[in-house]
Amino acid sequence: MLVVMEAGARPEEIEAVVRHIERLGLKAHPIPGAHRTAIGITGHQGKQDPFVIENFPGVKEVIPVTHAYKLVSREAKPDNTVVSVGGVDVGSNGIVVVGGPCAVESLEQTRSIAEGIKRAGGQLFRGGAYKPRTSPYSFQGLGERGLEILARVREEFDLPVVTEAIDEESLKLVAQYADCIQIGARNMQNFSLLRSAGKAKKPVLLKRGMSATLEELLLSAEYIMSEGNYNVILCERGVRTFADHTRNTLDLSVVPAVKRISHLPILVDPSHGTGKRNKVAPMSRASIAVGADGVLIEVHHKPEEALSDGPQAILPEAFAQIVRECDAIAQVVGRTLQPALSLS
Ligand code: PEP
Ligand code: MN
Repeated sequence: MLVVMEAGARPEEIEAVVRHIERLGLKAHPIPGAHRTAIGITGHQGKQDPFVIENFPGVKEVIPVTHAYKLVSREAKPDNTVVSVGGVDVGSNGIVVVGGPCAVESLEQTRSIAEGIKRAGGQLFRGGAYKPRTSPYSFQGLGERGLEILARVREEFDLPVVTEAIDEESLKLVAQYADCIQIGARNMQNFSLLRSAGKAKKPVLLKRGMSATLEELLLSAEYIMSEGNYNVILCERGVRTFADHTRNTLDLSVVPAVKRISHLPILVDPSHGTGKRNKVAPMSRASIAVGADGVLIEVHHKPEEALSDGPQAILPEAFAQIVRECDAIAQVVGRTLQPALSLS
């Protein structure tokens, strides 16, 4: 259910509707928009009839939302959501290029890569301190020590930090140290983790599961939003198909599909999407052309020595070239490259 308020509805009128929804035992999600406020209603409706709300002052209409996903949909919020990650806007007209190593390996490695990302004009830094590896014998990440390194790098280079949480325990620490919590492909349907991320006070970057449909991705975002965290960024990172010339098949058509039905921003990760260094630049260009709000790229100063995902890592110089090319493509589609935060 969605309550659409009149354009000139007063704050007390909105508050009265919210209180009534809560009295019914349901959850109210006020969604301020450019032209009007809507209030999403979630929870089990039971015998209650939310349609009586139509008679409240300031209410324009009450509409049933037919899709399983509600808060993520454009019906709930017609204008695009812009998520601020430590002061960098994701989902605005200015696209973002996010870079960093698959895993934080050492202070020296992380500083050296962050320096390259900053110099290239990248706006956000991403690196894993907790790595969900396919094999239990592969490098699992530095844990809290990795988070400390990320926090240091953020201060030194003025680069807000995105990093992955793999369980409840790491989520608590990631929410403390980072500017944005990544939920990886393998955890996209870890519903209890999604609910916890929904209670966290930081934005969430939600990666698409490797065999998730668009509806499943949106419902996972809905889990986070239903807990009151509306700062969700989606990320396409490739899905499993029969094609074996790349690690995954980057499903770029999901970008316009998301834009059509959801107000949430979406980034594309051509690194995991292809798994091959030589395909990262062309698929980055294509991502911006198809309407993505930015790209997320794995960068390493010594890819051959990387402790994870070396074959898809590119050098900082190649990252700089991608930033320039994304800037050029952004102009073609009526957008710009967002300037990075200036060093304070
Ligand atoms: C990652 O971002 O390093 C990662 C593990 O990605 P994904 O969850 O998309 O596989
Ligand atoms: Mn990786």
